[in-house]
Amino acid sequence: MAQPFFKVDKLKTAFSTDKGEVVSVEEVSFALEKGETLGIVGESGCGKSVTSLSIMRLLGKHGYIKEGSIQLNGIDIPKQTEADMRHIRGNEISMIFQEPMTSLNPVFTIGNQLIESIRLHTDMNAKAAREYAIEMLKKVKIPRSEEIIDQYPHELSGGMRQRVMIAMALSCQPNLLIADEPTTALDVTIQAQILQLMKDLREDSKTAIILITHDLGVIAEMADKVLVMYAGQVVEEADVFTLFDDPKHPYTKGLMQSIPHLESDKHERLYSIPGTVPTLQNMPKGCRFHTRCPLAMEKCLEEKPQLDSLAGKEAHKVRCWLYEDQLYSEAALELEVRA
Ligand code: SF4
Repeated sequence: MAQPFFKVDKLKTAFSTDKGEVVSVEEVSFALEKGETLGIVGESGCGKSVTSLSIMRLLGKHGYIKEGSIQLNGIDIPKQTEADMRHIRGNEISMIFQEPMTSLNPVFTIGNQLIESIRLHTDMNAKAAREYAIEMLKKVKIPRSEEIIDQYPHELSGGMRQRVMIAMALSCQPNLLIADEPTTALDVTIQAQILQLMKDLREDSKTAIILITHDLGVIAEMADKVLVMYAGQVVEEADVFTLFDDPKHPYTKGLMQSIPHLESDKHERLYSIPGTVPTLQNMPKGCRFHTRCPLAMEKCLEEKPQLDSLAGKEAHKVRCWLYEDQLYSEAALELEVRA
């Protein structure tokens, strides 16, 4: 069988701290084809960003991939040298972050930064790189691109800065774009424009996108398939229609209940999942969600559920004891076949 374009298999990422090793994400697996968008959703501290930083190999000096593999078009990411990774970042994978001011250098013009990034990853001379940079700014619909290119980041609005970041991320035509909360800091009109821009680019260049967000509305609009993460693990995986139509995990259901609906009374208080995500140092035994789960049973306090496909629905996976009888089991399948 042909290998998917991008595949993460049983990723486990840890950080060394004063108090010893802390595992931040574990058992994260997914596959992605060109032109597909995977949404990763969950609250802060669920492991979404560490998953993407692991893919980029940007974990800082205390973080490391402890187990698992990340394969991009035949490239084994964890095995690359740092020099190889510098080439891969930009050429193969690009990332855009929530707050572009943290990624744009305030003392250089937009042009300096964009042109430098283009020249680092291509053999264009300065003149050609400047022309290409202007072309990229036009592509992300920055008005007066010929003037804006010589301005400094603080002279632009938040939405414009985010477009510059997208132009920079896409200038080297990456095969994979990771967008970490790309529209969270923006107002709804600009958010809609940025999402449309990402959709256009996905159509035009078949870029695969990993979209990390806590916003289920953005997921519904953009993603083909979705991973729901909680406390460093995937708790549910499904295509976007199935996830919204038939969520199974109590955490996913809680997230869905916290979305405002058009028919909701405007005075009605929005539901929020009680409690907080456990810290890495204090992961509960058994199911990690049991401290907040309204349906927790005795078994949940002691035994750790696995992420398994629901019977007859291979692509819909859930990590919850409630579905124990509905999970795909090889033994049960064998009995069925024999019968
Ligand atoms: Fe809730 Fe138990 Fe399912 Fe965990 S395994 S989500 S505690 S019902």
